[in-house]
Amino acid sequence: SMEDEGASQREHFGHLYLQGISKIAAMKIVITGANRGIGLELTRQYLARGDSVYAGARTPGRARELAALLAPSGGRLQLHACDVSLEASVRTFASTVSEPIDVLINNAGVRSRPDSLEALDLDDAARTFQVNALGALRVTSALLPMLRRSAGAKIANITSGLGSIADNTSGGSYGYRMSKAALNMATRSLAQDLRAEGLIAVVLSPGWVQTDMGGSEAPTPVAESAAGLIGLIDRLTLQDSGTFLDFRGGPIAW
Ligand code: NDP
Repeated sequence: SMEDEGASQREHFGHLYLQGISKIAAMKIVITGANRGIGLELTRQYLARGDSVYAGARTPGRARELAALLAPSGGRLQLHACDVSLEASVRTFASTVSEPIDVLINNAGVRSRPDSLEALDLDDAARTFQVNALGALRVTSALLPMLRRSAGAKIANITSGLGSIADNTSGGSYGYRMSKAALNMATRSLAQDLRAEGLIAVVLSPGWVQTDMGGSEAPTPVAESAAGLIGLIDRLTLQDSGTFLDFRGGPIAW
């Protein structure tokens, strides 16, 4: 019954379910790189408050934690293959999305080491660019028809403080920094190009987060980063479009 399903969702998602009780309308969200780290936690939290998520994973067959959310979501989670570096994969993913999308979160990203001047790997830098910068633009372009069908849809591109030119006082991390700076620039163009239609595009820094990428020494638990990002995305208006914000909502210098 509906009641049983509600009870099992509350049990599964715990206190997060309660935060969603006061929400007015459920949203449709697309999240890339949703099988682990920040993407997985964003997916969990959106589902917990009653929203629907189209989750993209590079290798869905290995996305066990994400797949475990399918049954308790009661049909609100869809899991599909999406390698953001591959045009055909992104096209196929976009074709599974058949309804207006309120929020697109381009979260998929890579950061490999070494990435220093003394140990440059430019092929790796190019692969990083292909995922972090071109991947987000590729997914956005493919989903644009579905974003345009939702009034005031939001595109949240997950960047990094390392993508800030103004804040670069420590050097290094060539491929990663360049890829995120390029993502920032693409997002600014998206904001300009889509403003007249009421679509919002921003770059958001998740903080330094406890994930495979961030490492265990990172200060920010993934739940805190994801909750901050979700609250921030909820509050975005057209005035914010084209800005670079951290997960608590503060501005970051370009
Ligand atoms: P993780 O390394 O934990 O997860 C990265 C996710 O991106 C995985 O789901 C991974 O999938 C996916 N991914 C990688 N390449 C592709 C691809 N080609 N197509 C689709 N998905 C892909 O990282 P985080 O969760 O920490 O990072 C998420 C985002 O936040 C990234 O954009 C990252 O740059 C950014 N960020 C993170 C910070 C941190 O401290 N953690 C700090 C600043 C920014 P798979 O499992 O298949 O590899």
